[in-house]
Amino acid sequence: MSAPEDTIFGRIIRREIPAEIVYEDDLALAFKDVNPQAPVHILVIPKQPIPQISQAQPEDQLLLGHLLLTAQKVANQAGLDEGYRLVINNGNNGGQTVYHLHIHILGGRFMTWPPG
Ligand code: AMP
Repeated sequence: MSAPEDTIFGRIIRREIPAEIVYEDDLALAFKDVNPQAPVHILVIPKQPIPQISQAQPEDQLLLGHLLLTAQKVANQAGLDEGYRLVINNGNNGGQTVYHLHIHILGGRFMTWPPG
């Protein structure tokens, strides 16, 4: 697995490649997914690179809470009043492709269940 600093999301944080950033604070960044799976598809990432949720540590507790509240804030900002889905893919079977922790915010349509 590459070092988290080497992922495409690390490059977005460092502004080495462009992204449509919709929110930023000291700990987190949110930007539009380049391949949207719903009318609204935004990713929330920590600036501190945790590769995946299964590798998060007890000391990440505050940061993980901050990411969820950031997702809530960004979803509100995007006008998702009818609801939305938050998703964290973990590892190969979870469908994770970028090994820098991210929360997907999906909304703007009815989200079916179960997901694929
Ligand atoms: P996952 O499969 O959960 O690891 O999600 C990775 C997500 O990152 C996918 O939905 C991709 O479409 C998205 N993605 C990959 N590269 C970029 C990029 N440069 N800018 C925005 N989103 C990206």
